[in-house]
Amino acid sequence: MRGGRVAVVGGSIAGCAAALAAVRAGAAEVVVYERAARRLQDRGVGLAIQQDRYAELEAAGYVDARMPWVRLARRVWLLGDTDARGGREFGVLPFPFRSYNWGSLWTELRARVPEKVAYHSGAAVESVTPDAGRGPGPRGPGPRGAVLRLAGGAEERFDLVIGADGYRSVVRAAMYPDIAPRYAGYLAWRGSLPAERLPGPRETWAEQDAATVAFPEGHMIAYRIPGPYGRGASVNWVFYAVPPDVPGLRLDDPTVPPPRTVTAELMEHQEKVVARHFPPYWREVIERTRPRDTLVQPIFDLAVPHFAKGRLVLLGDSAAIARPHTGSGAVKALQDATVLERALRSAEDCDAGLAAYDAERAPIGRAVLELGRRLGRAQVLSVPDWAAMDQRSTEEWWRAASEGEKGFGGHALGG
Ligand SMILES: Cc1cc2nc3c(=O)[nH]c(=O)nc-3n(C[C@H](O)[C@H](O)[C@H](O)COP(=O)(O)OP(=O)(O)OC[C@H]3O[C@@H](n4cnc5c(N)ncnc54)[C@H](O)[C@@H]3O)c2cc1C
Repeated sequence: MRGGRVAVVGGSIAGCAAALAAVRAGAAEVVVYERAARRLQDRGVGLAIQQDRYAELEAAGYVDARMPWVRLARRVWLLGDTDARGGREFGVLPFPFRSYNWGSLWTELRARVPEKVAYHSGAAVESVTPDAGRGPGPRGPGPRGAVLRLAGGAEERFDLVIGADGYRSVVRAAMYPDIAPRYAGYLAWRGSLPAERLPGPRETWAEQDAATVAFPEGHMIAYRIPGPYGRGASVNWVFYAVPPDVPGLRLDDPTVPPPRTVTAELMEHQEKVVARHFPPYWREVIERTRPRDTLVQPIFDLAVPHFAKGRLVLLGDSAAIARPHTGSGAVKALQDATVLERALRSAEDCDAGLAAYDAERAPIGRAVLELGRRLGRAQVLSVPDWAAMDQRSTEEWWRAASEGEKGFGGHALGG
């Protein structure tokens, strides 16, 4: 890519990484349009990045070693069927991950976006129209591109439009009007609390353990993360289960934004499950979480057949959703940007670069979708008889569910 105007729709994790990729690939002008008017750092909770995937992304210059993180080593599976305060441990699996505060990752990526990029907050893109060229010129039709229509009616033309606008993407709608995310049938209730509010005693939960409480309707995973704005330490928990029917609450429709925090009805449902199945320590962790520190994430599936079409290209959740169980949502978005940069830099021209990007990343999108489905079935929709499990059967069950962990935590870059 030599020169050219590039628009990035969405300024979250994929969007910031895409802007960086476009500048490094040689774009003359890059403009980011982000719908949210406020800075995004308070939006997410925690995320985990597998150690090897982290090393690749650091080498590619997309993550910063100075970002605060917590080393995780083991995933400990627990049941609340005895008096043990922290639960009865029935299996332990390796968990070589680094955990981050979602906000710190976004803040760091945002700071990496070069100053020459125009990042517009509170700027929603309403629609995208591919543009076949500006009519015949002396050497045939003009260059291809796309026109963005912004909220308020203004229109802007670009040579390349990158859709980093999440699972409800308008860029994807222009490429694939008939493809929409499909609701997976269950939800993630997410919460965080400052580590100093954890119940005691301290040794109930080892620092490097991702604790997983299993119950007949799903599971909850909890791990420590750095506190917001890099201060202190926090705990991130994610509780997966099928929600009850709540009149007026549409969780299965990707066109309807989910509620900002866990609603009273969903909280009541969670409380019932927790009261029935959780060990005392983990019950208290949930009870000590303030409602305003919770959020709802309906689980959707999506993977488009091609990540590039004409001069429209997708990355991150707009192209393929990695269910959170795959431990690879942020990694996949950052890898997409890394590969896009490499493809645009090394190809003869922009179209060849986009084709190379698509050929490398679209199969990953499909693989991540399949892994997410398998892990969702095994851990939420069709769980084993947890009470009958021991170390050996946990290892066997996990190997089958994750197909030998292929792609768990993300696929190797370039692999
Ligand atoms: C509310 C929320 C909380 C999350 N929390 C976590 C978490 O705690 N842990 C975790 O691991 N993952 C979390 N994720 C998922 C994770 O962030 C993503 O899987 C991954 O980082 C890739 O994100 P993305 O940038 O592709 O999409 P997103 O993070 O969804 O970003 C898309 C961005 O595009 C913007 N946008 C959408 N439409 C338009 C438009 N028409 N015009 C302009 N801008 C637009 C949105 O405002 C948004 O900022 C969360 C996602 C969301 C939406």
